Amino acid sequence: MMKASGTTKNLGVIGWPIAHSLSPAMQAAAIQAADIDYAYIAMPVRPEALPAAVEGLKSLGFRGFNVTIPHKSAVMELLDEVDEDARRIGAVNTVVNDNGRLLGHNTDVTGFLRGLSRQGVVVCGKRAVLFGAGGAARAVIWGLLREGAESVTVGVRNAAKAREALADFAADVDIFPWDGADFAENLAAADILVNTTPLGMTPKTEEAPPVDWARVRAEAFVYDIIYTPECTRFLREAKEHGHRISNGVAMLVGQGAEALSLWTGVRPDEGAMEQALLAALVR
Ligand code: NAP
Repeated sequence: MMKASGTTKNLGVIGWPIAHSLSPAMQAAAIQAADIDYAYIAMPVRPEALPAAVEGLKSLGFRGFNVTIPHKSAVMELLDEVDEDARRIGAVNTVVNDNGRLLGHNTDVTGFLRGLSRQGVVVCGKRAVLFGAGGAARAVIWGLLREGAESVTVGVRNAAKAREALADFAADVDIFPWDGADFAENLAAADILVNTTPLGMTPKTEEAPPVDWARVRAEAFVYDIIYTPECTRFLREAKEHGHRISNGVAMLVGQGAEALSLWTGVRPDEGAMEQALLAALVR
């Protein structure tokens, strides 16, 4: 259990609803492993209460907080500064309270890239193909572009909608319907495949984005950012075809570790965070 005292510094996560959040379990494990004087709690904040909640957290001297659905974009205008990752993604998931100045970050980028780097995958010069164009895709796309990917191609069921949602990435990203010839051509040349759709997530575990595995290069690295189940159908099929894979646990742990590091200056024990996360997932 977390130890608290009169000097304990406060951290937490705001969202609506928030009871499902895995961050308290993961951050408590990291705080305990590092033996630092911090406490992290989940705080339900209704959309209409967001400005008051942010002001309140500042007044209460919280060192920082995570921000989750539905507040990730709305919180931006309540902050004093927003870093480049968060600006490019259009969402903040971590706020640092620097003596009353609120600084917004998006640690999903670092989290996503951690899943690649820890498997020895270098993004620079690689051709990446994504499935999906939602909120998580924006962090993945920006991470790939920031690291110097040679090309980023997005496959979706509705290209017109995705082109609108990703209009600000139009110069750097190609978007195609995933059942067409253009997408198939890019898929066949890809070095990195990423599923950012919820297809395959519990309970609909038999769903998967459409992939003709026979055409995917044997060296391609396959990444699913879903973390329940640990091995989605997309990853199972990739593995059966001999590909190296990563699931979304690496990204979830990585974004949390980066947030704690921004608040405390301490590099947390990611193994302890991963263990706590996996234990919370089976509960
Ligand atoms: P989102 O904003 O709702 O976007 C989902 C994307 O998937 C959209 O492009 C959507 O297309 C597409 N999609 C949804 N259902 C589909 C279906 N049945 N068939 C085809 N396409 C479909 O969701 P998100 O926030 O980006 O999250 C996506 C996934 O990422 C979730 O599974 C979430 O758990 C996971 N995630 C993981 C992490 C992590 O740390 N590991 C972080 C964030 C998210 P339309 O626009 O056509 O609906």
